[in-house]
Amino acid sequence: MFSQIQISPDGFAAIYLAATVFFILGLKGLSSPKTALKGNRNAMIGMTIAIVATLIHPEVRETTWIWAGLGVGAVIGIAVALKIDMKSMPQLVAALHSFVGLAAVFIAAGTFYADLSSGKPLGGATLFELGIGSFIGAITFTGSLVAFAKLQELVSSNPLVFRGQHLLNALLGIAMFGFTAQFVMSGEAAPFWVLTAIALGLGFLLVLPIGGADMPVVVSMLNSYSGWAAAATGFTLENPLLITTGALVGSSGAILSYIMCRAMNRSIISVILGGFGGEAAAAGASAPTKGVKSASVEDAAFMLENASKVVIVPGYGMAVAQAQHAIKELVHTLNAKGVEVKFAIHPVAGRMPGHMNVLLAESDIPYDIVFEMEDINSDFSSTDVALVVGANDVVNPDAKTNKASPLYGMPILDAYKAKQVLVIKRSMKAGYAGVDNALFYYDNCSLVFGDAKAVCENLTKTMLAG
Ligand code: NDP
Repeated sequence: MFSQIQISPDGFAAIYLAATVFFILGLKGLSSPKTALKGNRNAMIGMTIAIVATLIHPEVRETTWIWAGLGVGAVIGIAVALKIDMKSMPQLVAALHSFVGLAAVFIAAGTFYADLSSGKPLGGATLFELGIGSFIGAITFTGSLVAFAKLQELVSSNPLVFRGQHLLNALLGIAMFGFTAQFVMSGEAAPFWVLTAIALGLGFLLVLPIGGADMPVVVSMLNSYSGWAAAATGFTLENPLLITTGALVGSSGAILSYIMCRAMNRSIISVILGGFGGEAAAAGASAPTKGVKSASVEDAAFMLENASKVVIVPGYGMAVAQAQHAIKELVHTLNAKGVEVKFAIHPVAGRMPGHMNVLLAESDIPYDIVFEMEDINSDFSSTDVALVVGANDVVNPDAKTNKASPLYGMPILDAYKAKQVLVIKRSMKAGYAGVDNALFYYDNCSLVFGDAKAVCENLTKTMLAG
């Protein structure tokens, strides 16, 4: 179909540059909810340019399989995108990272065997790229599978730790680099497959011990690894666009991991090495010892409408309940009664970076009443009611005071400082970190048990009826 089109190598360089510029504009747009849609559109334009450039490239002589892949991928992609709910988005992202990793392994193996069978001598630099591409891809693949299983709750989100874990990981890491060196020197298939097998095991072992509150950093680290795996593949295929795109994903993922680590007061090295906070998680997972106060919807509605200032803290439960539209109605009703309402967003609330901002934007909640943690925390002491909607770990004061807690050291939203705290959740179950929340036992805290959407709708109804 595109075989008639003749473009010079310089022409291709210009097309690749244009695609890269669109990817950069895409990333820039995604840095704020206001410009995210535009950013997404720019990234889609960049990807369309990249696909067309691949199809018209003179080195691509046979496009049947590419069309078949595009067709199958597009059908699956559209079906998944239509079916997926926002709650499952983080798992989907983890699953997609695993595909990138697996693709990098396949491309490294395919290129290796294609070059071997063509009798073309493989240079040291090529073998090095193939080895690196395969092991980064393999670690990304299995690491992302574990992250998927933890986020999907197929396995416990608690850290899986055992004695000698760090030593085992270190030995496997050394062995993996050793076999990579052997592969580069010998150009044989055996060390290639051994290094790939070790990397597959290492991916599992590095993510299994991550638990408590450290999962967000791992998800963004895997995002970064998948970018580097793509960049390594770009070197193998001598495709500059894949190199620049991979490097963009790799570096933006690394920067995001750094930001998440800073937000959570964690050391990035500890998270990369795995197992951070594992022992503490076991110690901190204590059962409730005292009773909690529960409030009816009527009590909660009374408190809210008699407040001057309310700060809403959304969390993962808001995403589960899809309560954002009901919350918007609640905000309108409160505003109509003269109550000032603000939102407080913790950087790791929900299950992916920006999760809460995306949901609030979906229900058209104005950006100027949505505040990040560092900008709102000083407000809580002058707040009448902090309304915690499906959030748990991000408001747990144990993060400040209990050294045995896996959350210890993570900055929290200081909801406990408000005059009254209302927490909407369904039961006494723990949040993602698997630990009890000290806030629920504070004298100024009451729990409104129920699904977040239903409770918010009932709060609005009660206030309107009153
Ligand atoms: P949590 O996971 O700590 O708590 C969510 C709470 O929502 C639970 O206590 C649950 O209680 C409640 N809930 C669930 N469904 C509903 C519902 N339908 N209606 C009302 N409540 C509901 O969420 P947070 O947002 O506070 O914290 C995020 C946690 O996830 C942190 O530990 C973070 O490290 C981790 N994480 C974050 C990622 C990110 O990138 N943001 C990625 C991976 C992990 P109940 O079941 O009783 O209703």
